Amino acid sequence: MTGADPGGASHGTGAAGTGVGQVVAEDELAGAPDPAVDPAGWALAAERAVEAVASAEELRSLDPLLLGKRSQLTAARQRLGGLAPEERKAAGGELNRVRQQVEAAVERRRGELVAAERRARVEAERLDLTEPLAAARARSLGATSAACGAGVAVWRQGLVHLVQRTRDQLEDVFVGMGFTVADGPEVETDWYNFEALNMPPAHPARGMFDTFYLDVEPAESVVLRTHTSPVQIRVLQSGRLPVYAVMPGRCFRRETADARHFPVFHQVEGLVVDEGITFGDLAGTIETFTAAYFGPGISARLRPAFFPFTEPSAEFEITCTICHGAGCRTCSGTGWVELGGCGMVDPAVLQAVGVDPERYSGFAFGFGIDRCAQMRYGIPDMRAMFDNDVRVLRQA
Ligand SMILES: [Zn+2]
Repeated sequence: MTGADPGGASHGTGAAGTGVGQVVAEDELAGAPDPAVDPAGWALAAERAVEAVASAEELRSLDPLLLGKRSQLTAARQRLGGLAPEERKAAGGELNRVRQQVEAAVERRRGELVAAERRARVEAERLDLTEPLAAARARSLGATSAACGAGVAVWRQGLVHLVQRTRDQLEDVFVGMGFTVADGPEVETDWYNFEALNMPPAHPARGMFDTFYLDVEPAESVVLRTHTSPVQIRVLQSGRLPVYAVMPGRCFRRETADARHFPVFHQVEGLVVDEGITFGDLAGTIETFTAAYFGPGISARLRPAFFPFTEPSAEFEITCTICHGAGCRTCSGTGWVELGGCGMVDPAVLQAVGVDPERYSGFAFGFGIDRCAQMRYGIPDMRAMFDNDVRVLRQA
């Protein structure tokens, strides 16, 4: 027996002509009562015969015996002429009824058999286009043909990209300090990206950002966000105070790629707004984060700076992780590396989003996730993180 049983039944092999199914069917018919005497009994035997055939071909062979000229049914009809008219009518009606009953059974069985045979044919002709996983993986990963031939699985587990992993770790540190994580769009209006952050049109501070503008009207109204700070505005606009949130994400500036810059980069921004927040809270938060993320021996310091949305503002630097403060090429011999900017939120920024600056104060900070990864893992050139060189990606 090959393939599926096309009849879906236990009898027969599906062979044409005189298969076992047909023999059983003919036996059923041979033992059937005379339809002229017991029409219901004959119909029952005829239906069992129909069920017994195992192929459409067998059914075709059985059909003349069931309903054809040489069938018991036809013979019974021919004998109707010898009956009285009343009896003839009743008997004729009964024979018609069982004929229709058996015809219906034949049609139903034919449908079943044809469908089953089609399924069997499709199954037999189906092409197996799949390939054993181990060999395919081994080839795609450049294993030797000998290893492929032997079916040796060369599995390499995928890795989370260094930038994503750094982002996850930073989020963990800040969540551990009681912050929540907020998110915002990468395409922003000029208002969120600049104006709400105390940089009205033509403000000189806009010159700090080489911005990608989208080609929509009015001109220069929609930008690829140049920093994650617009998310601060969105968080404040939600109206839920106090705020203790970090906002990681992708940012865009028209930078020429070099060892420390890339036109696409990642920032994490932090915002705290509550009653009685001071600069001391800001310094303590930066110091706590630095120790938690970079480990003992690495500390932070703040140096005065200017940002339009904070007052006072500072740049924060951490101990150079390459030389641990002794001075090296990466830190230009200073022992310190700049990580980001921070400051007390300018009251004008709070006012712009409807927060009372008399009651609330806060601080904000932001730094590059890519720079963080660079410092933590000692990567001399930032471009290595985006070159997609598999040697870099595999060791991460
Ligand atoms: Zn150094």
